[in-house]
Amino acid sequence: MLERAPEVRTWPVEMPFAYRYTPGVAGARFLEALRDRGEILGTRCAACAFTYVPARRSCERCFADLSEAELEVGPGGELVAFTVCRVGHEGEPLPAPVVFGLVRLDGADALLLRRVLAAEPRTGMRVEAVLEPPARRRGSILDIVGFRAAAG
Ligand SMILES: [Zn+2]
Repeated sequence: MLERAPEVRTWPVEMPFAYRYTPGVAGARFLEALRDRGEILGTRCAACAFTYVPARRSCERCFADLSEAELEVGPGGELVAFTVCRVGHEGEPLPAPVVFGLVRLDGADALLLRRVLAAEPRTGMRVEAVLEPPARRRGSILDIVGFRAAAG
C-alpha cells in the first residue's frame, strides 16, 4: 500500500542563481585566441582523426594529450541543424524569433552551438562566423556573435 508523502518533504521555492564556469587550460587558450586574435581554436587528435572545437586538452575518445595539437578552424562552416525559438526562458513570447544552430566549422569535426543570423537558415548552407569588433571582445564564447550566410 502506498503512503502519502509527508508535506514536509517538498518546499516550493524559486532559486535564481549565477555561476562561473572554469574553462580550463585549453578553454582559456581558446577564449584568449578568440579575444586577442579573432581566431577560433580547435585541437586535433591524430589517433582518432577528430578535431574538437572549442580546443580541448585531452581527447574524450582515447584520452590522448592534445595540449600541443591546436589549430585554427573556420571561420567558415556548414549549418548542420538549427532551431527557431519563439519564447524566452520564462515562457514569454520573444519580440522576434531567435535561431540557434549547430555549425561544423571548416577543419573541425565537432559542432559549435551559436546563434544563426541568416535570414533564411537551411541545413547544409554555408555560413561564416561573425565576431564582435576587437575592442568589444571579452574572452567569452559570446565574442562569436553568431553565424551568417557566407558571402558568395
Ligand atoms: Zn583520440
